[in-house]
Amino acid sequence: TPRQGGDRALLDRYALTVTQVRDNLTKLDQLVGDGDFGDNLAGGVRRAVKLADETGTDGTAALAEAFLNDVGGTSGPLFGLLFQHLAAASPADGGAPTVAALAEAAAAGHAAIHRVGGAVPGDCTLVDALAPAAESLAASRDADAPEAPLTEAAQAAIRGALATASLRPRRGRASYVGDHALGVPDPGALAVALLFMALADIHE
Ligand code: ADP
Ligand code: MG
Ligand code: MG
Repeated sequence: TPRQGGDRALLDRYALTVTQVRDNLTKLDQLVGDGDFGDNLAGGVRRAVKLADETGTDGTAALAEAFLNDVGGTSGPLFGLLFQHLAAASPADGGAPTVAALAEAAAAGHAAIHRVGGAVPGDCTLVDALAPAAESLAASRDADAPEAPLTEAAQAAIRGALATASLRPRRGRASYVGDHALGVPDPGALAVALLFMALADIHE
């Protein structure tokens, strides 16, 4: 039987969130892109749940496999890389990952996504949520007794995601619409922020 450790709980929590926000993420991608982001994300988590149910694959490992192999769009492989590093941070017993392991995963995920997609903070992409989350986790790792490191990382990611509304996109399809993207938060950044919120919800 598939085990139901913390890692699977994260998958279920994120799958629920994505189901709830899917239409809104699609609307944002309709304003600045091609309107498929909600479907890409929801399709990926649905495949991951199916994979975890059928094979007992861990939650983040199932997310990585589903997004890397089966999800189209620019976001599919980029989210897949992040999930791959998060999976490496998840202890085999399904318990909570350490702050150090999460800091490492977020930094490595950020680096991998930068290598593939070229985006830096300020380009109005999911990197604008991931980079501050990674920085927050690194700061908590180096702090004496961080109080709620995952909640702080999630808040940093949310601030970064919301701040994309005032950025002019320089990567991805949104870069084609120029000033029309001003005022619209980047859907990929919001989805990454919601992932860190799910992590905080499950483990903190
Ligand atoms: P597509 O444009 O292929 O339809 P999706 O709709 O699947 O892509 O995903 C859009 C999201 O992908 C954007 O909201 C943005 O966060 C992210 N994105 C696009 N290009 C890049 C990039 N070069 N680096 C990082 N993230 C990117
Ligand atoms: Mg799209
Ligand atoms: Mg597309």
